[in-house]
Amino acid sequence: MYPQCHAGIAVPNGLYAFLAAEPDGQYQLPRQLSCELQSGHGTDHAGFLQSIGPDEHAAWWLLWDDTAGMRSLIQLPYCCDDCTAADACLLPAGHEGRHGPQLATTLDVPPGVRLLLPARDLVR
Ligand SMILES: [Zn+2]
Ligand SMILES: [Zn+2]
Repeated sequence: MYPQCHAGIAVPNGLYAFLAAEPDGQYQLPRQLSCELQSGHGTDHAGFLQSIGPDEHAAWWLLWDDTAGMRSLIQLPYCCDDCTAADACLLPAGHEGRHGPQLATTLDVPPGVRLLLPARDLVR
């Protein structure tokens, strides 16, 4: 597994309102996004926003670059490289880095929060 990028962003209100007005959105719109690309990627961060219509031909993504203060809304099909139905990559087509199923989401535990491990790991 490869680590996933940890960058996060609050979805801008105007963008949220724009997508919330779309009657055929398939998912609940997020207020916060995390970048879904492989850690260390060189292009803009990318987070999934919404998919329109039952066939989900394309999805809306937010691209952002904190250094440049840039935010872009793009509509792209899902990635298909090497994808099978059971192991589908839900990243945007043409994305950088490894495919989604190869990425591990590792938790950044906030200070003061205890991370509880499954019991089997504690008794080993
Ligand atoms: Zn990123
Ligand atoms: Zn992919």
